[in-house]
Formats: sequence, C-alpha cells, structure tokens
Amino acid sequence: METRKELTVSAIKNGTVIDHIPASKMFKVISVLDIDKMNTTITIGNNLESAKLGRKGIIKIADKYPSIEDMNKIALIAPNARINIIKDYQVADKKNVSIPSEIEGMFKCMNPKCITNFEDMQTKFKVVGKNNKLELKCHYCEKHTDQENFRTI
Ligand code: ZN
Repeated sequence: METRKELTVSAIKNGTVIDHIPASKMFKVISVLDIDKMNTTITIGNNLESAKLGRKGIIKIADKYPSIEDMNKIALIAPNARINIIKDYQVADKKNVSIPSEIEGMFKCMNPKCITNFEDMQTKFKVVGKNNKLELKCHYCEKHTDQENFRTI
C-alpha cells in the first residue's frame, strides 16, 4: 500500500502535485488552471480512494510551479487541496491553499450586464460564502458568481 502511495505522489521529477481534490471538483480545477493549455506533462487521476474524502483527485504537473494566482484559484474551488512541490523526485515543500478574501482580475463576472464584461477593466471580487460553497461578489455590480460559473479570464 505504502509503496503504491509513494509512487502516486512522486512519479514526477520536478513539478507540482495537487492532491486532495474532491473528485467532483476535479474538472473545475483543471479548467481554472487552464491545464488543457499547458504543454508540459500532466497526469490526472480521479476517483482515487481516500480515507478522508471518499473519492479524490490528484493532478501532477511536470516542470511547473504554482503562482500565487494559481493557488488562489485552487483555494476557491477546493479549499482542502494540498500542493506538493516536487524537486528531484522528492517533496521539497508542502503548501496548504488558503482562501483569499479578495480576488482581482482572474475570473469573469457572470452578470452579462456587468461593466467589467464590456469595458476594458479588471474584475474585482470579494470572496463570500463557506468553505465548500464559495462565491465571488462583484465589486462593481454586486452580483454573485457561484463556483459552477467560475470562468477564468
Ligand atoms: Zn459584476
């Protein structure tokens, strides 16, 4: 068991392993991180068994390290995710994501009439709601954008 777990986490030489993503949130995390547009090796495992989460997902991204923005995006979708920084097959650093209180310029406001959707300006939101149901409250139109509607800019 232990050997298998070790393999799952450290099979990349350098890069990032995002672990403890609830299975139901996997594809949202993939979409907000624009993983489909990356050109490094990506390994995705979903519906893995986890004692804590029931079913979880894991994403391994070779040769890339998350920015603060990436971490914020992950936190908004999967607040309990863990980020392992891998260097030379070893876990060099572990980061817990933390939910930002405000977020600028990463997501679109879901209100089609919002000024941010037709003027050349940055979006700005307050993060509201609870851990597993976070929403973004627009600074300009005050509409809430829920997780289902998170769209990156
Ligand atoms: Zn708005």
